[in-house]
Amino acid sequence: MNPVDYLRISLIDRCNFRCQYCMPNGDELQYILQQNLLSREELLTLVREVFVPLGFCRFRLTGGEPLLRPDVVEIARDLAAIPETQDLAMTTNGFLLADKAEALYNAGLKRVNISLDSLDSDKFDKIIGNRGRSRWKQTWEGIQKAYEVGFDPLKINVVVMPGINDEEVLDLAALTIDRSWHVRFIEFMPIGNAALFDRDGWIPSEVLRQRIRQQWGLEAASITGAGPADIFQIPGAKGTLGFISQMSECFCDRCNRMRLSADGWLRPCLLNETSQIDLRSALRQGISTEDLRDKVRHLLDIKATINFKDRDNGTDTGAYTRTMSQIGG
Ligand code: SAM
Ligand code: SF4
Repeated sequence: MNPVDYLRISLIDRCNFRCQYCMPNGDELQYILQQNLLSREELLTLVREVFVPLGFCRFRLTGGEPLLRPDVVEIARDLAAIPETQDLAMTTNGFLLADKAEALYNAGLKRVNISLDSLDSDKFDKIIGNRGRSRWKQTWEGIQKAYEVGFDPLKINVVVMPGINDEEVLDLAALTIDRSWHVRFIEFMPIGNAALFDRDGWIPSEVLRQRIRQQWGLEAASITGAGPADIFQIPGAKGTLGFISQMSECFCDRCNRMRLSADGWLRPCLLNETSQIDLRSALRQGISTEDLRDKVRHLLDIKATINFKDRDNGTDTGAYTRTMSQIGG
């Protein structure tokens, strides 16, 4: 078992996009009330006094869309300043990144993953559920700005959906030939929008690798902070290709992470809702940080028994109450 030392922190559940694969069609989401979001101070207390003493040293800011949080730069600065922090990263849709990239970098954020599911602006808008002026260009500018500012590695996340963007896999992979970008293809997961999953299914990473191999060849490679991705490279390319295959290959045994929602629920597994704990209420009730640590320690102790595979033995109902935008990916 890997040590669990990586915390994904959702800063806000709201988003300025409405990606088909992430949010359900039609129904309005119930957003967390402002007063129920963890404040910057509460978050810092939890990280410094609960998570760090338990060995967490790698943090990722996510959402919803983390750049919608007005104090995102200050939060990044707070977390970067903790002496035990070994790695601080963010996952963003990039739409607001051009304006914030420099301040975030100067605050101590050094790695960023940006979602970009299409190079075609019309298709992009369709995927993100945008009906107004196209949002592709501003997102692309956000990526360029992050690159200029020095984020390294700069990763592009692509959720591959059959019949929607899978035809673009070669074009997206080609971005890595002349740029030291890292494009990661993520298997679509049946969470958030089950209708899309039922209709079209998902494409195994190996099918994508075969397409890329046929075009250019493909060799094994490595990269810092690869997480659950299997890393490859087009021969001679400056960047790499990552494949996150949670549907075709179970990597629960390698899992090193927990997830903290914007309202303070600690979740031991992305796809299993059992055993979550409400740290915000506990903190606001005045429970000591020692006692909070004990609760989290207990969750760490049982984490290995709580995973995606539980769906098969009936201990998880599979009825996910939170969408991906609420969990943070
Ligand atoms: N808004 C930010 C973004 O889009 O990058 C951060 C939050 S988003 C929930 C985090 C990651 O989850 C993104 O890379 C997104 O592509 C991924 N994601 C969302 N829904 C997914 C799904 N159903 N299957 C696989 N990945 C998904
Ligand atoms: Fe928003 Fe990210 Fe979900 Fe898209 S994937 S709806 S950008 S949270």
